[in-house]
Amino acid sequence: MEKTLPNADGVFELMTLPYAPQELEPVVSAATIGFHHGKHLLTYVNNLNALLPGSAHEGKALEEIVTSAEPGGLLNNAGQLLNHNLYFAQFRGPVADNAPTGTLADAIIGQFGSLDAFKKDFVQKGASLFGSGWVWLAADDAGRLTIVQEPNAGNPVRRGLRPLLTMDVWEHAYYLDYQNRRPDHLNALWQIVNWDEVARRYQ
Ligand code: MN
Repeated sequence: MEKTLPNADGVFELMTLPYAPQELEPVVSAATIGFHHGKHLLTYVNNLNALLPGSAHEGKALEEIVTSAEPGGLLNNAGQLLNHNLYFAQFRGPVADNAPTGTLADAIIGQFGSLDAFKKDFVQKGASLFGSGWVWLAADDAGRLTIVQEPNAGNPVRRGLRPLLTMDVWEHAYYLDYQNRRPDHLNALWQIVNWDEVARRYQ
């Protein structure tokens, strides 16, 4: 997994989106992106930067902090920063019949039977996650795929797994566009998954 380091001033920066805020419409509105990236994620960045000075984690890579920090506010904010960086970087504008190719597609079909079976299982695990959290596609050292439910700020790196794809099931991710219809939001997200980015994480 790549390492995200603080800048020369020792602080983590808000990631730059690889698309314009309106580019994910109608799946995710520009308004949701504006609040989610520009307000919610920025708050996690600022909280983490406020907690790091004088802590045991000053100067470390974000991935290292999330793997090693004790449960608490610093881990929660570092986890939310890493989770959102992976989340926002894995999308692009809607694509009809969007699907993975190559080694990743072979692994998904080998593990879950078909792409549709995988998507159904993934959405079911996201829809049934009680409260706030994240559903992940993750890989072990042998490249075996698994779907993992993580509450709150959880990330599968703490289980020794490599995170590949994630859906945010905190209400702030979908409430402006989908209100209480979390499964509808999750099903719609398949249209904007950038499978090239997911495949790059799997290699
Ligand atoms: Mn979020």
